[in-house]
This record gives sequence, C-alpha cells and structure tokens, in this order.
Amino acid sequence: MKTQGWGNYPVGEAAWLTPTKPGAIGRIIGNTDTLIARGAGRAYGDAAIGAGATLSMLGMDRMIAFDPQSLELTVEAGVMLDDVIRTFQPRGYFPASVPGTKFVTVGGMVASNIHGKNHHKAGTFGSHVTRIRLVGADGKSTACSPTEQSELFHATIGGMGLTGIITEVTFRMQKVETAFMRNELLVARNLDEAMRIFEESLGWSYTVSWIDGLARGNALGRSLVIRSEHAKLSELDGWRARQPLKPAPHAFLNVPFNMPAMTLNTLSVSAFNQLVYWNGVRQEGPRIDHWNSNFFPLDAVHHWNRIYGARGFFQHQCVIPKARSRAAIGEILDRVARAGNPSFLSVLKLMGPDEAGLMTFPMEGYTLTLDFPVSRKSFELADALDAIVLAHGGRLYLTKDSRQSRAMVEAGYENLPRFRDLRAASGAARKFKSLQSERLGL
Ligand SMILES: Cc1cc2nc3c(=O)[nH]c(=O)nc-3n(C[C@H](O)[C@H](O)[C@H](O)COP(=O)(O)OP(=O)(O)OC[C@H]3O[C@@H](n4cnc5c(N)ncnc54)[C@H](O)[C@@H]3O)c2cc1C
Repeated sequence: MKTQGWGNYPVGEAAWLTPTKPGAIGRIIGNTDTLIARGAGRAYGDAAIGAGATLSMLGMDRMIAFDPQSLELTVEAGVMLDDVIRTFQPRGYFPASVPGTKFVTVGGMVASNIHGKNHHKAGTFGSHVTRIRLVGADGKSTACSPTEQSELFHATIGGMGLTGIITEVTFRMQKVETAFMRNELLVARNLDEAMRIFEESLGWSYTVSWIDGLARGNALGRSLVIRSEHAKLSELDGWRARQPLKPAPHAFLNVPFNMPAMTLNTLSVSAFNQLVYWNGVRQEGPRIDHWNSNFFPLDAVHHWNRIYGARGFFQHQCVIPKARSRAAIGEILDRVARAGNPSFLSVLKLMGPDEAGLMTFPMEGYTLTLDFPVSRKSFELADALDAIVLAHGGRLYLTKDSRQSRAMVEAGYENLPRFRDLRAASGAARKFKSLQSERLGL
C-alpha cells in the first residue's frame, strides 16, 4: 500500500499489519522480515514508513488504568492524544506535555519524545513517562522504566520505533482547574525583541512565537509571541465560569483534496503572513482561550497538509545551542527571506536542557520550524540551512525530517554510536527498519 507521512513526501510502498491485541505482536515479529510501528502517521517524513512491513498501532486503543493519587495514566500505545484529553480534561486532568496536534498516538509521542510549548519548564513528554512495555526483536515483551531496563527505556524514548514495538505506556498527567488558558499576546518587531520576550517569559508555563518568515532588514524575525497558563477558576467570569471544564467542539472544516501546487506562492504566503501579523498587532494583550484553540489551532482544519498539493511539503526543524541561537536563527531567517522561497508557517520556541532519551532532539536553546513545499529549490535552500545549523552546533528533529543527510544526523546526535550499538546488540537493527532509518543508517 502507498504510505506517506504528514508531509506527503516521500511516498513508500509498505505492507500494513494491524494487530488489535498485544499478544499478537510477538508472533507478527517472528513471521516478518523487517517492520516498523506506525501511530497516526503525523511524523512529517519517512519515520513511520516500513522498509518492509508497517505495523499500524491504531487497533490497540484501550485505556487501562488511572491513579488519581500519582496522576499516572496507563494506556495502550495506539490511544490517541485527542481521546486522552477528551476523557480526562473534563475531570480536571491534562497531559503534562502535548505537541501542536492532538491527532497523534501516545506511542508516537514516546517514540518521537515530543515537546510542547512548555519544554523550558516541563521537559519532553518522555520525562513524564514512568513505564512502558516494549516488544523486542525476539518477540518478548519487556517492562522498562527509568529504573528497570533503564538503558532500553532511554533508547526507546525518542528512539523512533527502532528499539521495538511499544505496546503500553504509563505517564503522569497534571491537574488543571479549568478548560481555559490565560494568554498574553505580545508583538515583537524583530528577532532581538522576540528573544528578549522569551527570556522575560521564563516564568510562564507555555511560550511560543509565530514568525513572519518574509520580513527582512530591521523587521527580520518580527513575530507574535504568545505566553499562557492554565486558567484558574477564579480567573474566569461569565459563561466560562459557569462551564469551567467545557469540552472541546469537534472540528468540521476539511481540505477535501490536494490543492493545485500554485496555491501557495510567494504572493499568497506573503499576504497571509501580513494578515496574521497585523491582526496580531490589533489583538495585542491578555485574553482567555479554550485549550483546544490554544494548543491545537491547526487541528481546526482536517487535512490542511493538502494545501501543499500532491507533491507535498517538508518541515525543517532545527535546535541551536542557546549561546549560538541568535546568530544562527538570524542567518537562517535572512537566508529564507532572501531566497524568496517562503515558509508558510514559521515557529520559534525556547527549549530547556533535556536528557530524557538517548536520541532526544531538544537541547537548551531555540528551536525554529519552517515549512516548505517539495521542490528542487526548497531542497537546495534546506541544504544551505543545514550548513548553518551544523556550523552553530545544532541538529534537526528526526520526526519532522525527510531529507537530511547521514553526515548531518551523525554530527547532530552525539549519542548515535551508542544507539547503533544497542540496536545491534539486541537484534533490533535487523528487525526494526523504517525508510528513515535506512536512509540515515540509524
Ligand atoms: C501539525 C503538527 C504539529 C506538530 N507539532 C509538534 C510539536 O509541537 N512538538 C513535537 O515534538 N512534535 C510535533 N509534531 C510531530 C508529532 O508530534 C510526532 O511526529 C509524533 O510522533 C506523531 O505521532 P504519531 O502517532 O502520528 O506517530 P507516527 O507519525 O505514526 O510515528 C512517528 C514515529 O514513532 C514511531 N512509533 C509510533 N508508534 C509507535 C509504537 N507504538 N512503538 C514504537 N514506535 C512507534 C514510528 O515508528 C515513527 O518513528 C507535530 C506534527 C504535526 C502534523
């Protein structure tokens, strides 16, 4: 079956298998040459496309136990984040870390060791995982935690499915009083201002900025920075105070088919960026939003990835050590603006230190995401951006990647040799292979 990630590039051919019981997985592993687990397929590139078979985890979607004392929730790996939030948020609990979409599985969140807008305070999702069950190359299921099989545990957090199949995850939730977020929107006229606001906002739980990727000169890096906290009951009034744990509505907008590739060109992206920026300028200040629009604005339109057309798109997400972030991100934004190859969506976040997993992406510094349509020109630009990232000691996020080189990943991930050794020793290197792991020699 043709199989692709969220960016619709690259497209692979993979045989799909869909177990519904953890007991079936050992047998499948025994009978299959090579395979890779797949959650909701929200990785942008080739990480969840099997070099041989692709094992869909969506049939394993049961919630198993919740302990209100320890706040630990145990679920099967194919449970969707959307279902976790819809079930637990009305009861006053919310995951400690979430990515920019709720349409991901818990297993996928562990395998990518995802980060949210609160990474500087809360770390990655992996740092809230207390236990997993993993089926390895020998078909046996092992419990792993920070204290039990800890090496395997750390290699699996952020290990991109390459240590085995995660069947069950236990993770800590946080308590919240309401479904709402107290936000402040601030306008930064350039990159220096944006970074100053991030530094001044270290006490806020969540901070993110949307960058106008086409602004140049003195306005380079101009952005809207949004910082937020879970709103307390005492901070709500009117209808919100009467419905403090109001569930989220379901999205109904949809992009029904791939748009013509022309839809996103320099003019339309520039107009969109201008519109968002000046709209933000008008709305500067405090406001209260529902968690759904605060954390997941892109989820409001199903299949928004189709606006890039049939050729698809890719995301370039880098992280740069803090001391080099200003120089590197300034260079990258300048390069993109001069190339006239606009990024539709450009996001900047400040990350804290992180050691949750062996192959973890975050490091203390700034992370920048840029989306580009697939084209030769975009790939050439991305190669030039890689050189800047490399020169400043940064790395690229594997779950967004579909094109980086082996040299790039080897330079960025200092624990890669240990990860490769562990995979070789456990037999995982022979059994668990994605198109990405083959491309990058992971
Ligand atoms: C709109 C959008 C916004 C996003 N925002 C963020 C963000 O803010 N922060 C962030 O960190 N990420 C973000 N992401 C990326 C996303 O969170 C990750 O790609 C996540 O892993 C996707 O989960 P999934 O269930 O779709 O996994 P898939 O895409 O299906 O798989 C991703 C990886 O996990 C492995 N995997 C999946 N399930 C299992 C399992 N049960 N056992 C072993 N391995 C498994 C796969 O082999 C693959 O390597 C975003 C993605 C989108 C589309």
